[in-house]
Amino acid sequence: MHEKCGVVGVSLADRAAARPLYYSLYALQHRGQESAGIVTHDGFQQHSQVEMGLVGDVFDEDDLANLNGENGVGHVRYPTAGSVDSCCAQPFSVSFKSGSLALAHNGNLVNADEIGDELADLGHAFTSDGDTEVIAHDLARNLLEEDLVRAVKRTMDRIHGSYSLTIMHDETVLGVRDPEGNRPLVIGELDDGYVLASESAAIDTLDGELVRDVKPGELVVLHQDGSGYDSYQLFDRDRTAHCFFEHVYFARPDSVIDDELVYEVRRNLGRKLWEEQGVETDVVMPVPDSGRAFASGYAEAAQEDGADVEFAEGLMKNRYVGRTFIMPTQDERERAVRLKLNPIKSTIEGKTVTIIDDSIVRGTTSTQLVDLIRDAGAEGVHVRIGAPAIVAPCYMGIDMATREELIASDKSPTEIRDEIGADSLSYISIDAVAEAIGRSRADLCLGCVTGEYPYDIDGEATDRDVTRPSIGNARAEAND
Ligand code: AMP
Repeated sequence: MHEKCGVVGVSLADRAAARPLYYSLYALQHRGQESAGIVTHDGFQQHSQVEMGLVGDVFDEDDLANLNGENGVGHVRYPTAGSVDSCCAQPFSVSFKSGSLALAHNGNLVNADEIGDELADLGHAFTSDGDTEVIAHDLARNLLEEDLVRAVKRTMDRIHGSYSLTIMHDETVLGVRDPEGNRPLVIGELDDGYVLASESAAIDTLDGELVRDVKPGELVVLHQDGSGYDSYQLFDRDRTAHCFFEHVYFARPDSVIDDELVYEVRRNLGRKLWEEQGVETDVVMPVPDSGRAFASGYAEAAQEDGADVEFAEGLMKNRYVGRTFIMPTQDERERAVRLKLNPIKSTIEGKTVTIIDDSIVRGTTSTQLVDLIRDAGAEGVHVRIGAPAIVAPCYMGIDMATREELIASDKSPTEIRDEIGADSLSYISIDAVAEAIGRSRADLCLGCVTGEYPYDIDGEATDRDVTRPSIGNARAEAND
């Protein structure tokens, strides 16, 4: 189950949490369009509204009015090919002897099946095949024996993989980031409370201030009355495994991750792309919207170097065509690119053009675009890409494609250049990515571009010494 999603949690002094949660989810809509949900707690009971669809469609005024309480969590879920099923919409909420829980999860566990099997043997019944329910049951069980912080620690001891979670236990909202910090999670301060969110853009939307990133392995517990938060550093690893693709593609450009504005990281990558792989052409054109920041950095660096190159928006995007990437057949995906992007002939005709995008996954977009631009009369078409070649699948929550579908899994850049029909094709180097993000390679998850993962995944290589606790051992240790 790949869950590339957006999560939020809010605790306020004297104001219903529903509306700030709703606006935050709007700000995080790019992280998931399949379903949206909010669960609040009014001191007596939970209220929830979780449905398939976009944020704007899932909640109406009556729903927001019924979501009582000053504490709550919310979620938007990314569409994954094949699983459009309301069983997995979140937050996942459930009541146990130990109280009520609502969980919103961004990421993907690599050992959910094992833990799920073990819990099923102990009598837990599951209503979905999602990781999040496994976390909920494990946490509920631990809460029977331990206080909140210890219970969370014990669950974190057992679950392995990528997770940024917002959780509500009765009225208490908490945020947890996995020990490797794979997915982002930030803390924000509002006039009358605190917020936890996948990205800082959600905090901006609420007129709040970004406090800082939740640290890898940290648990943050918001005070129910919105007066502050407590922090518990439950795990401290030597190395992190931040997903570089968040910076390159996934996060909003106006979000700040690890003190770096995503837009600036992308512009910097564009500049480095020019330094590493620059080619002189008449026009530099972004593939909207994901290529825009890269192309502006690239063109700026080229112009500073004295290249006679124009930066032009020569491809127009139809904003009403969504989800092309996950359309089930190749034919539909190709048609969708044509629907989505249309060239402006006068900026292209008779010119050599460099198009810049953030990534090539299956190669559908680049192939279609090179064709389109040649049809519009370009004399030459060069392609520059702001991510390294994606050679292997993502198991950590970004639904990319299978290895067979990934064009770079078995082809060299030259072969890909020929297949997409470009005059030249270059990718940014992995080192440049690490430099632009301001982290060493060792602290990034680079699985999809190296084929070596920071986690222990069946049948895949790892880039570190992962000591994955066996399930039984983890429980025994936690019992110590
Ligand atoms: P492709 O057409 O399969 O080569 O995919 C590359 C295009 O999809 C690029 O324009 C990217 O901006 C976009 N893209 C890359 N990764 C993803 C993803 N995980 N979900 C949706 N779109 C993506």
